[in-house]
Amino acid sequence: MADGHFISVEVVLKDGRTVTGRANDGSAAWLCPCGYPSPLLGTWFPDPSVVHCPGCHRWYKFVKGRDRIEELIPAEVSPR
Ligand SMILES: [Zn+2]
Repeated sequence: MADGHFISVEVVLKDGRTVTGRANDGSAAWLCPCGYPSPLLGTWFPDPSVVHCPGCHRWYKFVKGRDRIEELIPAEVSPR
């Protein structure tokens, strides 16, 4: 990915639906399908983000090395 160049990324939900987000060099933003008014934002570098939606309490993980984000089931959220 080139600096300053935005691409579309796929956000894959547990129910199989997908949402399209926008990404630049290492980070991405997307709107949660629950209707939460602010975009969610995370990064792939240096470590892939795990992102929580304040609106519906979904969790999302960035898939390392791929321009893709997946919804986590809560049991997969590792405590830190
Ligand atoms: Zn949400």
